[in-house]
Amino acid sequence: MSDINTEILNGISRRSWLKMAGIGAGAAGIGLLSGCSQATADTETAAAAAPDPDALAIMSSNENPFGPSPMAMEAMRAEVGNIYRYSGPLLQEFGEMIAEREGISPEQVLITNGSTPLLAAYSQWATMNDKTVLTSAVTYEGVPRVAEAYGTNVIYTPLDADLGYDMAAIEAQVAPGMAVYLCNPNNPTGRTIDPVVLDAFVDSVSAQGIPVFIDEAYLDMSEDYPAGVMTKYAQMGRPVIVARTFSKIYAMAGQRIGYALMPANMAMEWRGYGHLSSVNHLGLVAAKASLLDTAYFEDMRAKTKAGRDRLIAMAADLGRPIAPNPQGSFIYMDTGMSNAEFARQMLERGVRVVGNRWTDLPQWTRICVGLDHEIDKCHAAAADILTAI
Ligand code: PLP
Repeated sequence: MSDINTEILNGISRRSWLKMAGIGAGAAGIGLLSGCSQATADTETAAAAAPDPDALAIMSSNENPFGPSPMAMEAMRAEVGNIYRYSGPLLQEFGEMIAEREGISPEQVLITNGSTPLLAAYSQWATMNDKTVLTSAVTYEGVPRVAEAYGTNVIYTPLDADLGYDMAAIEAQVAPGMAVYLCNPNNPTGRTIDPVVLDAFVDSVSAQGIPVFIDEAYLDMSEDYPAGVMTKYAQMGRPVIVARTFSKIYAMAGQRIGYALMPANMAMEWRGYGHLSSVNHLGLVAAKASLLDTAYFEDMRAKTKAGRDRLIAMAADLGRPIAPNPQGSFIYMDTGMSNAEFARQMLERGVRVVGNRWTDLPQWTRICVGLDHEIDKCHAAAADILTAI
């Protein structure tokens, strides 16, 4: 092993290293570290370029179909000639901006290309520290699947009767040596955790020194935002990691920026992993401008809610149950048939929805907010399929 590798691995046990060595291929193989498969990315790029109303309606990827802030686009255009430089100074400036907005020290802010690398880093950290990941059976895979690919044990608790996180069941499992992952609102169900319950959980668990990672990718789309924001525990220096992304409400999925607030020593350790450091310049430029565009933010909240309400009404019209009161940019619907078959038939009709990604609920599918004509197309396609069964 080279000196550089020895240095990088300083503090990492051989057992952990062996675990880590087996995982790069595994994690890359399931396409999670990049967020989606190459086939998916290719299709999405082609579809995004085509304004044709007959084009594939992509309602499977939790992208914001309303597009980025005009201020973000203008800022990127103005900066495009400077992409030959590394983004260090801008990264520092942006980190300070986030720290000031969040009332936290810059050492507690970690900025990455989207939040996926943060989820992967938590999985890596859990593996290297011999933690067991504790989460829900039906949730975003970015932490549990990557942790499993690293060879780390994951405990999955069942959803409650309303398809929400069962916080009592999770709390009953909490023990030293665990690392909790919560997604609020949860992807794919769209359910939020009651803010009072969440607050009590994070307070009690983090006070025991047990880390809690809260993925707030969709929280700013929820109606009672910011009630569920858990920043204060990161501010207190508790082992709490709050992750955010510009891919969702700020429509920057193709120019990713994400960040996490966390204890300073943990941020320093994660920076040491090396692969989190290369943040893209235009993403930083766009994210900075997006944060200043408060009118855009409110507009996106309103448009997302309107789209979500249309999807809720669509499911009611189809007579199909959904996970109640969804608060992200999607609904989770019981199709009454195999979700893979439903997705296949929807695709034949020009609409892409999630197939059998969450195997615990084999009839349920996630349908994301699209433009109005895409929701119309989705509604017609689903009605066509479901009246036939
Ligand atoms: N967290 C959740 C809950 C998500 O749904 C996603 C993406 O869909 C991510 C994190 C990662 O998004 P990104 O890497 O684009 O920030």
